[in-house]
Amino acid sequence: MRVLLLLLSSLFLLQEPATRPGYDDTPVLPGQKWRVHDRNRPYPPVVRPGAQSNQAPSDAVVLFDGSNLDAWTTPEGQAPTWQIIDGVTQVAGSASIQTKAQFGDCQLHVEWATPPQRKGRSQGMGNSGVYVMGLYEIQVLDTWNNTSYADGTAAALYGQYPPLVNACRPSGEWQSYDILFRRARFDANGNKLESARMTVFHNGVLVHWNRALLGPTVHRTLPPKDPAIPAGPLLLQNHGDPVRYRNLWIRDLESTE
Ligand code: MG
Repeated sequence: MRVLLLLLSSLFLLQEPATRPGYDDTPVLPGQKWRVHDRNRPYPPVVRPGAQSNQAPSDAVVLFDGSNLDAWTTPEGQAPTWQIIDGVTQVAGSASIQTKAQFGDCQLHVEWATPPQRKGRSQGMGNSGVYVMGLYEIQVLDTWNNTSYADGTAAALYGQYPPLVNACRPSGEWQSYDILFRRARFDANGNKLESARMTVFHNGVLVHWNRALLGPTVHRTLPPKDPAIPAGPLLLQNHGDPVRYRNLWIRDLESTE
């Protein structure tokens, strides 16, 4: 009898409930169309994370997996001249590289390494950079025992904000940026309603928290106005130093509003 009861109760548990769990008599959330615990609210899509948290999840666009630069071009529309060695791409030639695809709001993962041989100083040591939308640079620089101006160090929003802390690893070691980006918003006439915003983790350490960008990155002067565009390429800067990159992926967040 006990076995039969157990069997019946487990069968009952396996059955789909007649209605989804939740409520239809609770208050509507301010600014949303859903009730508190709304039973009809769509579930988030299932995304399979990478085996390790630095690996691309199932809904990411892989921009460089170590094999080729097919997703990339130069700002002038030429084939990239950067080298690929052992699954890593290294700055070479004179041009920066940028993605053929354009992105607005996004989550971005970048791994980079400055040269192990310490050469140069200040902005001349392992300089490169990650430009979101081709506009806003998160500085790449060897800032391990190398001083430069604060808003030009590794992980700085170049020329605007130093990182909250210096989380740089030693010269030549692999480092990571995890970037959350929300582009600027404009009205129909191109007037800016909201600044672009950036949250950045350097080697897993928070270095910018929802920073409002002043405008596109420039050198030695104040940023100009943000262009009223909805997307742009991801650009990796060629500053003449043989900086390496690997494991580049991005998640398009444009449809999350
Ligand atoms: Mg740079």
